[in-house]
Amino acid sequence: MHPAIARSFSEFVQRRRGWDHRAALAELERMQWEPLEAVEAVRMERLRALLAHCARNVPFYQDALRDVGLDPGQVRSAEDLRALPVVDKRSYRAGYERFFDRSGEHPFDQWVTSGATGQPFAFRLDRRSIAINTFAALARGRRWWDLDHGVREAMIWSGVRDVSSSLQGRLLAARRKLSWRLKNIVLVDIYNLDEAGVRDAYRRLLRFQPRLFRVISSGLYRFCATLRELGLDGRALGVEAAIYTGEAFPPAQRRLVEEVLGCPTVCEYGCGELGIIAFQCKTGGLHLSHENMIFEFLHEGAPAAAGQPAELVVTNLNNFAAPQIRYAVGDVVVPSDARCACERSMPLIESVGGRSHDTIRTPAGGTVHGLFFTHLFDDLPEVHQFRVVQKRLDRLRVELVAAQPIDEAALGFIRKSVSDELGGADRVEVEVVQVADLPVNRGGKTDWIVSELPPESP
Ligand SMILES: [Zn+2]
Repeated sequence: MHPAIARSFSEFVQRRRGWDHRAALAELERMQWEPLEAVEAVRMERLRALLAHCARNVPFYQDALRDVGLDPGQVRSAEDLRALPVVDKRSYRAGYERFFDRSGEHPFDQWVTSGATGQPFAFRLDRRSIAINTFAALARGRRWWDLDHGVREAMIWSGVRDVSSSLQGRLLAARRKLSWRLKNIVLVDIYNLDEAGVRDAYRRLLRFQPRLFRVISSGLYRFCATLRELGLDGRALGVEAAIYTGEAFPPAQRRLVEEVLGCPTVCEYGCGELGIIAFQCKTGGLHLSHENMIFEFLHEGAPAAAGQPAELVVTNLNNFAAPQIRYAVGDVVVPSDARCACERSMPLIESVGGRSHDTIRTPAGGTVHGLFFTHLFDDLPEVHQFRVVQKRLDRLRVELVAAQPIDEAALGFIRKSVSDELGGADRVEVEVVQVADLPVNRGGKTDWIVSELPPESP
């Protein structure tokens, strides 16, 4: 399929569903080079318009704005938002209708996301938000790498599960497959990455010659590690970049993938309900979608310093159908005050650290965030993948995947570092084991922090 034809097919599908992103893409591509102050003026204008809309049409925010005495017309900076409550999925579950726009002037779609807890939630998303935050921001990021929609693309993703054998299920699966063909996309099913599956995918991809991989990182890692074991030449696939979604991707895994494929890995961080939150440029900066959202980085409720792991709280400037103001995504990220050498004005984050509830509880009543383990294993490149399972408050199992047997000295170091962090070896039993593979959850990802404790009582 010619890239231009594949691209125009994608755009046709989006237009028909009310998600035409082309004007928004042109605007984002213009704004990325504008000085930060000019962008800030536009953002504040949009924020005031959003809040004024909320004051007129959205019951939850009519009450909240009145309670704190905030006049939308008087808002001058993002700091003015801090009077408003932080909301999360729990707030939505408690009464989502109160977040809905009553004017009926903003067309929307329902998008179901499975979310970190595995409980699906149907978000009401403004079609403008889908067009701008999801499609335009993704297209902009891809174009930084000269890999616009339409180029030959391989996705390592959860495939279409033909769960029902009904005619309708089979038709849906067939339609999806056709749609991917027309968009120049080949799918490698993340559930089918055993040796035979990888051999078969490799043969298909060798013929297809994808310019781009778009992947769930744990799936990409498994694919590349298996290629290496089988002695298959990943570089022969001709991939120019592997864009992975922003789940934690340890440096050792990234290095292996980059060696096997001979191309850079690129972080795309986002979520269904907000769209693209950040995208990595060629210079290496992980740029926030600053034009579309207002970001807050909170540590125990207060603004975090650069370099400090923080809870990400987002105000979406483009969702008028069910406004998301100070929405806690449930992720921990590390904010940065560095400027990127590429000279785009959008601020950076250092990294995406995983979900904010990825924590281990200590016998003393404290918590250790999953980032502790990421940092620990950053220093041990022989560890390619890990999973931490909290069996009991005083018992932890650390599972490691590596290409070679991990020596006793390294295992002992890990055991000691972990038990020290959790309060000492006399209080916590830490078991460190090397395993061949880690389990994959229903979304195709590996949960790297697993708690088998009963839920904490509030
Ligand atoms: Zn940059």
